[in-house]
Amino acid sequence: MASFSVHGVGVSSGIAIGHAHLISHALLEVVHFKIDSKAIPAEIARFDRAITLVKQDLAQLKDQLPANAPAELSAFINTHLAMLSDKTLSEAPKAIIQNEQCNAEWALKQQMDDIVAQFEAIEDAYLRERKHDVVQVVERVIKVLLGHHQRGPGEKKQQVRQERAMILVAHDISPADAIQFKHHQFAAFITDVGGITSHTAILARSLNVPSIVALQRARDLINDGELMIVDGTQGVVIVNPGPEVLSEYQLKQNQWQLAQQKLQRIKTTKAVTVDGISIDLLANIEVPEDVVSAKAAGAVGVGLYRTEFLFMNRKEMPGEQEQFEAYRHVAEAMKGYPVTIRTLDIGADKQLNPDEIVTATNPALGLRAVRYCLAEPHIFHTQFRALLRASHYGNVKILIPMLSSLSELRQSKLLLQRAKDSLRLENIPFDDQIMLGGMVEIPAAAINAEAFAQELDFLSIGTNDLIQYTLAIDRADDAVAHLYNPLHPAVLRLIQLTIQGAEKHGKPVSVCGEMAGDTRLTRLLVGLGMRQLSMHPSQILSVKSQILQCEESLLVKQAKKILSLTDLEKIEPLVKKFNGELA
Ligand code: PEP
Ligand code: MG
Repeated sequence: MASFSVHGVGVSSGIAIGHAHLISHALLEVVHFKIDSKAIPAEIARFDRAITLVKQDLAQLKDQLPANAPAELSAFINTHLAMLSDKTLSEAPKAIIQNEQCNAEWALKQQMDDIVAQFEAIEDAYLRERKHDVVQVVERVIKVLLGHHQRGPGEKKQQVRQERAMILVAHDISPADAIQFKHHQFAAFITDVGGITSHTAILARSLNVPSIVALQRARDLINDGELMIVDGTQGVVIVNPGPEVLSEYQLKQNQWQLAQQKLQRIKTTKAVTVDGISIDLLANIEVPEDVVSAKAAGAVGVGLYRTEFLFMNRKEMPGEQEQFEAYRHVAEAMKGYPVTIRTLDIGADKQLNPDEIVTATNPALGLRAVRYCLAEPHIFHTQFRALLRASHYGNVKILIPMLSSLSELRQSKLLLQRAKDSLRLENIPFDDQIMLGGMVEIPAAAINAEAFAQELDFLSIGTNDLIQYTLAIDRADDAVAHLYNPLHPAVLRLIQLTIQGAEKHGKPVSVCGEMAGDTRLTRLLVGLGMRQLSMHPSQILSVKSQILQCEESLLVKQAKKILSLTDLEKIEPLVKKFNGELA
């Protein structure tokens, strides 16, 4: 087998050696091929087996539902079971296999398309929506036909062992799909598309395994099961490496692991510069269980809890009680440390459902984040109530994403006040002094930061979006990933403006975008006056190690020098020089 390498953009450092596991949406993988007439009975038997297996899985799932599971869940499984027993799904595809001499997956997909078209013609909106059930159940059967069948709990240990040797290779994965990988332990994760701060890349980084995006056609070039090396630090994938390359990377992998272990020594050390300036290093989390890694990394709080992931991959929005329990879990687990919970930030590349078709021409400029919540005030109200209730159990702060105008902030405050009033009426306890912060991720907010700081308790700079909107570069588009540069003088100027605006009113300001976890930028951010950085737990110790080595007074001078420059080509080498001088 020929060895070759593919280059992309490394989004999570480290080295992994394992076997390729090609993934995608099952339905996207369905191809059409003709089969020999003699093979028809075997193909029909394969189809029958898949249907039986999915039925068994669903029945088992139903049996294992906890006693307190919502009744709809069991009804939902029953609907899928009934569909599988219906002739339109269990028999009609067999006739297609027979008549068209085609593969089972294709036959089933054809039948599914027909049924979905019939549902779409129904006038009643409720019945029309049932088409999603058809797609979901068909997807289950197709996954089995394609050999992606999930293992039962008894084989879990073996599954984990296998996963650790698996490198996920995807063309594109939505954040809603990627969040599901959190429950697995793969060796590495690579995709053909995606920018360095796309939400899929952010999730890949949070899996704490080497990860590369923007590999262009890697998924086409790589075959299932091939041996691969993923160097997340350099952004290189080596497929079918020869023995020499393999042993070189095994050595590098050991060195990397040793360096990571060494970093553990500073886990409980306070992040203080040589001249005594203390920097708070907080964690970004996506799901409540992430608090485990946040605490393990010595985070002194959660600087950004992206709640939208609680709303993904489901039919109904989570209710107040479910949200409250998730938020309270994090608040209690962090034991008095601040927990900054961001209100729902959906839209753009974060769709609630990966199958949803985005019709907006410019979704990143559309009805997303706070705009969406203000347009759907009942959703905002429910979330505010859940957040307020959780505030009774820990040090909760609320963070509003994507503010662009003061009127959005004032409307949000009004809704927060209403949520407080409603809880008061019901005698439900909450922290009446709960801090309210705003994200600065639109240039308009950075330029107007002083006014925002006056009306808020704190600011948090979302550099991922701030860079996207300042430089007009889609953060999820690999075609322009090379232009996405946090050191652009306009970006630095906006960060400086935000810090100055916050300082004017004595309000704290932090960075919670990916810049915060980039060790090449730590010195610059501290020099600019940043005292709080929030990042993925896996980045905390490396950033801390930078802080422990530097002298703040010197960094301030260097940052001033960098800010005086207007040419990116001069800024980049200077930042490198300052980093090198101090290393
Ligand atoms: C940001 O934009 O920098 C940010 C932290 O928010 P998100 O990445 O979730 O858009
Ligand atoms: Mg953002």
